Amino acid sequence: MKFGTKAIHAGVEPDKSTGAIMTPIYQTSTYVQDEIGMHKGYEYSRSQNPTRHALEKNISALENGDFGACFGSGLAAIDCVLKMLNPGDEVISTNDLYGGTFRLFTTIFEKYNIKFHFVGMSGVDAVKAQINANTKLIWVETPTNPMMNIVDIEAIAEVAKEAKAMICVDNTFATPYLQNPLDLGADIVMHSVTKYLGGHSDLVMGALVTSNETIAKEMYRIQNSSGAVPAPMDCFLVLRGIKTLHLRMQRHCENGEKLAVFLKNHPKVENVFWPGFEEHPGHEIAKKQMNGFGGMLSFSLKGNRKEDAFDAVKKVKVFALAESLGGVESLIGHPVTMTHASIPKEERERNGIVDSLIRLSVGVEDAEDLINDLKQALA
Ligand SMILES: *Cc1c(COP(=O)(O)O)cnc(C)c1O
Repeated sequence: MKFGTKAIHAGVEPDKSTGAIMTPIYQTSTYVQDEIGMHKGYEYSRSQNPTRHALEKNISALENGDFGACFGSGLAAIDCVLKMLNPGDEVISTNDLYGGTFRLFTTIFEKYNIKFHFVGMSGVDAVKAQINANTKLIWVETPTNPMMNIVDIEAIAEVAKEAKAMICVDNTFATPYLQNPLDLGADIVMHSVTKYLGGHSDLVMGALVTSNETIAKEMYRIQNSSGAVPAPMDCFLVLRGIKTLHLRMQRHCENGEKLAVFLKNHPKVENVFWPGFEEHPGHEIAKKQMNGFGGMLSFSLKGNRKEDAFDAVKKVKVFALAESLGGVESLIGHPVTMTHASIPKEERERNGIVDSLIRLSVGVEDAEDLINDLKQALA
């Protein structure tokens, strides 16, 4: 089946008892057993819930995987992957990863004697240089936030295979519509479902997908043992959201391109970071491993003054000033004071996150209105 058909039908069957076409919200903690040990596959909702199961099957189908698991947040999904490791194990990770992931790695798992190496992943050499007998996990994020750096998943997966380490890709920015890491050699794909999969900025959730049976067993054991499971109502909302994922992503991509081109030609704009531009350093790899360039982009202003960026984000009327991304509505943010405030200025600037940088999560409104909004905000 092709993507749009899977988005609507995978994992979803009419309810057997009533024929209801939409998966019911099984708002229940427990399930009646006919006699001891005789149940219908559901005993307790931390372990199994039918609404969650439908969603897990749906997301794993979209990622071309065999096993899916949903969690109470994206970070709870990442937490599950890290709990597959043992003290003394080492992780190699991209250096410009999502701030919450960095915090989880360094303030929680370092305490349990897991060692992290943060490297640039534009080539494989920096990764290879950190590999040793203890390397058990390579953590990839692509495209990255907010510079839209691109990592060659296939190349890193080969390195991981040689090292007998797992490779997990945070696919939140690309979504399964634009990129399928398992097809490129990844062992696990991770999503902050909060973003594009949910798509309507109305919940927080995470997911993992794998086709490796050994990893899947661990994933379900940790999901049940740690208990960071999402509520049935939220699973229902994500099932509903995913039914239009392909339609939304088409418009996110179209609008993303229109805004990137508009900004590139704007006299007050210095640089636009969007992987669809030929001069973007990751363009060729993005073209190879993605089915489009997405709706995330950032840009800096001529003169690089923080006040000018503040002024612009204050003046927008259609865009909303907020953290997060991936919803139908367009959001605008200032990484230096919002998402990346905890990173030292020097390190921030080394990665291109300058004072005037503005990040956009381009929504699915009419592009003309979005362009006019930025026009008046930058005037
Ligand atoms: C938001 C986000 C996360 C964390 O997900 P939550 O649902 O907020 O816990 C992880 N990775 C990326 C790339 C994100 O954007």
